[in-house]
Amino acid sequence: MKYFIQAFMVVCALIGLMSGCSSDEKKSEKREIVQTKNSKTQNKSQDKPNIVILATGGTIAGSIDSAIKTTGYEAGVVGVDVLINAVPQIHNLANIQGEQIANIDSADMTNEIWLTLAKRINDLLADSAVDGVVITHGTDTMEESAFFLHLVVKSDKPVVLVGAMRPSTAISADGPKNLYNAVALAANADSQGKGVMVAMNDRIQSARYVSKTHTLNVDAFASPNSGDMGYIVDGKVFFHYAPNKPHTTQSTFDVSALESLPRVDILYSYANDGSSVAAQALVQAGTKGIVVAGSGAGSIHKYQKDALKKLMKNGLVVVQSSRINNGIVLANDTDSEFGFIGSRDLNPQKARVLLMLALTQTNDPREINEIFARY
Ligand code: ASP
Repeated sequence: MKYFIQAFMVVCALIGLMSGCSSDEKKSEKREIVQTKNSKTQNKSQDKPNIVILATGGTIAGSIDSAIKTTGYEAGVVGVDVLINAVPQIHNLANIQGEQIANIDSADMTNEIWLTLAKRINDLLADSAVDGVVITHGTDTMEESAFFLHLVVKSDKPVVLVGAMRPSTAISADGPKNLYNAVALAANADSQGKGVMVAMNDRIQSARYVSKTHTLNVDAFASPNSGDMGYIVDGKVFFHYAPNKPHTTQSTFDVSALESLPRVDILYSYANDGSSVAAQALVQAGTKGIVVAGSGAGSIHKYQKDALKKLMKNGLVVVQSSRINNGIVLANDTDSEFGFIGSRDLNPQKARVLLMLALTQTNDPREINEIFARY
């Protein structure tokens, strides 16, 4: 009963804090990149690691006027200071500093925010006074942002993405516990050199393998091909394995001088596929690469494949991935000879991230195939 009253008071405090903002203030806070450097520094202790929390929005920062509602809320409303204040226990784990990078529904994530985030993380982690970074993020595209950062962050220090499936106003909101776990993971000495990680529902997942696998349940993230990377129990971290593909400091991708990324889009393959029209329109709009979410082990309907082949002759790069969230996709010998590239175990949205970065280095399908084999 005591704990229920405490939890209820935290929810009430959050609602009270948020109702202090007018809806106009909330709107203007959204969809703009704001940096409030050093917005939160609390009694710095020499004994504790220094962790920076970068907030980007999502359901963890979502709000609705009913504690029983877990749908229909607005994501990306609550600011980083409110998120930090809702979990005072994180100050026992680390010295915490918060910074607002964006406040969006992650369905609206952009390449520009990714570049801003990556550059800010690289600046922060180059500072010997910073020991790790936690990123609060919507769950919808978390796996894409995590994989992008896994390939472009240039540090062995821990980087952890965290979100929530229930808005901050809900009964049993999962955000506070997830945030506590994320800080515990980023503050843990064993987290060094393991690449970017996702901390959701007590599970630790590698950015390389993690995928969102449920639309609503709090246990929404899994790594279908590899299993969880570890587990967090009451702030204690247990690792099962470390990712074996190159990442962070071993990755050759460098976004420090980039203001934009090559355009890559995703098309789906299905019975009576009409995507050939979309493929042509995308290329006319500037798309340099297409990832096909193929059926089965990456099959592409012949209507779409014939159109893609014509576009490939003019320089379009095509990666075959799969609608199935488990297994491997390899291009067969004939397709491979033509230039098709198998995504291996990368799902379409992650293959898109790798293809964009590959295209910053080369347009040659053979070299890009090597990159897919390596990363
Ligand atoms: N639509 C939300 C987002 O991705 C969902 C969430 O965070 O769970 O921002």
